[in-house]
Amino acid sequence: MTNTDTMIIRRRGIDRTNFPHKQTFIKMVEANLQLARELYPDHHIPNVPIVFYSAGNCSGRAKGRSHYGQMVYNLEFNVAAINLHWDVMTGNTIPHEVAHIISFIVHKNDADRGNGHGRGWKRIAKQLGCNGDTCHSMSIPPARQRSKHKYISNNNSYCELGPTQHKRLQTLQGYRVTIRTTGEEIYRHNYAGVV
Ligand SMILES: [Zn+2]
Repeated sequence: MTNTDTMIIRRRGIDRTNFPHKQTFIKMVEANLQLARELYPDHHIPNVPIVFYSAGNCSGRAKGRSHYGQMVYNLEFNVAAINLHWDVMTGNTIPHEVAHIISFIVHKNDADRGNGHGRGWKRIAKQLGCNGDTCHSMSIPPARQRSKHKYISNNNSYCELGPTQHKRLQTLQGYRVTIRTTGEEIYRHNYAGVV
């Protein structure tokens, strides 16, 4: 049987990189959960796995789901948002998301107050240090796209080159690229624009 205290709900897009101050961020989430345990000693607030992702512009998410009658909770945070908005993420997003889980545990029989951003959630969010903002998303620029470049060989073969090869072709004297499938060579003058 899976230990519900360590079960990860998210299946795709988990970011396991070691971004700056990752351990500090995790400690701050743990500290917020600990504060909630002290505020609500009559409720069992379990260990909550902390998961990171890097796609999309949602800054964080609290997830809960039932697993053979036991609730499993996960806290998810956006790495790009942490890198760009450390103060907002640690000061507001952490308590915002933790409050969703605590609200669900504390108000579970009162759907009105337990779910969403109602007054039950709001009160807990403020106790945990959130300003009560309900905004989940903040401006996160999309991941930089790697540009691709079209080249058409002297024999009319089409190929696409990444930015590194393109730059070498355009800047290094005598540089050429061989198309693996046909053996043809691509020169600087074969450039046909950005894909
Ligand atoms: Zn929310």
